[in-house]
Amino acid sequence: MEIASGTLFEEIVRTFPGRPLGSASNAGLLAYIQNAFADSRLDVIALPFDCRFWSAGPSSLRVNGRTFPLFAGPFSPPCSGTGPILKIRTVDELIASETEGKILLLHDEIAAEPLMPKEFPFYYPDEHRRVIDCLEAHAPQAILAITGKDPVSGVNPFPLFQDGNFSIPSACSGEHEILAACQEGSTGSITITSAVETRPSRQLVGRRAGAGQERIIVCAHMDTAYRTPGAIDNTAGVAVLLELARRSAELQAGCTLDLVPFNGEENYAVPGQLKYLESLREDGATVRLVINLDAPGSVGSKNAFSLYNFPDEQRSQVTEIVAESEQAELGAAWYAGDHAMFAFNGTPAIAVTSSDLFEKVTDLTHTERDVPEVVDPDLLGRACDTVIKIVNRFV
Ligand SMILES: [Zn+2]
Repeated sequence: MEIASGTLFEEIVRTFPGRPLGSASNAGLLAYIQNAFADSRLDVIALPFDCRFWSAGPSSLRVNGRTFPLFAGPFSPPCSGTGPILKIRTVDELIASETEGKILLLHDEIAAEPLMPKEFPFYYPDEHRRVIDCLEAHAPQAILAITGKDPVSGVNPFPLFQDGNFSIPSACSGEHEILAACQEGSTGSITITSAVETRPSRQLVGRRAGAGQERIIVCAHMDTAYRTPGAIDNTAGVAVLLELARRSAELQAGCTLDLVPFNGEENYAVPGQLKYLESLREDGATVRLVINLDAPGSVGSKNAFSLYNFPDEQRSQVTEIVAESEQAELGAAWYAGDHAMFAFNGTPAIAVTSSDLFEKVTDLTHTERDVPEVVDPDLLGRACDTVIKIVNRFV
């Protein structure tokens, strides 16, 4: 009997909710997917790597008789100390300041958006490099960022840093009163409770071997951010991927097909992605097409297919297939998620997400509100139908 993605979705989201890389729940889903691939008669490849798992405890700033609770920065080193507080609003102010040994209070312009992890392999803007290089060169004791809602997820307040390779302890808060409480020349005591431990993990691939060196990749990231059940982001995509595995007999013979549950999309080091890209290079494989399933199935939405690097003729072929489903439409370009690393290289790629991604879904992602009820399981099965048609056109 066929197991639909709706059933897979329910099972995964109830059994393995919240799966940051290195967590027990992440390891549980790895074993589940490994079995599912084997049951679907795919070759199962496991690429091992080490990752860092983060945990946090109560953190706070005490200044002028008041105590403010803080959120420890993900992967921050722990810290507990007292020192002069220095408020900094812009990058130029940071560059001009003596910051050594101080508790930096970053706010306003300099804390307007999360900074990319150091040397992030697919995207590391110069503006972020300038800030991070300057901070590391002048060793402040700790950094407290006053932030608000993340522009690209529902997290509020967002951490300014999310980087296991960044050596300065950091925390964040959405409490602007901290700024008023810290007058010129204030001294404060900061405690950041945070721990990082190295754990083994792996990147799985479910492969149906075919002819030649070309591959078609269908992927969906299986890890979640911290502190979220990760129902739509991205249990929904994983369910479609596993339904595709179970229905792989419907796929026509052709080039090699890799089903890739990327493990690390939400992690600063993207270790699963890097392992898989390395394996492509070692195998001398070229990629014909990537289809990335990320956050499809939002209740009341349609499945949105956005295309990257498609020649006109192929674009119209995909457009025709998408038009065959009443539950699908072409989506707006979206340069985040696992298709982006392929799209930046000129590889033809398709992102499959929800048509209300920008209006609705991003505000739920990475929060406790990303629960099973936000996903319509029926849409996941429809997404799988359309993906099978597209793969069969290009295989
Ligand atoms: Zn995602």
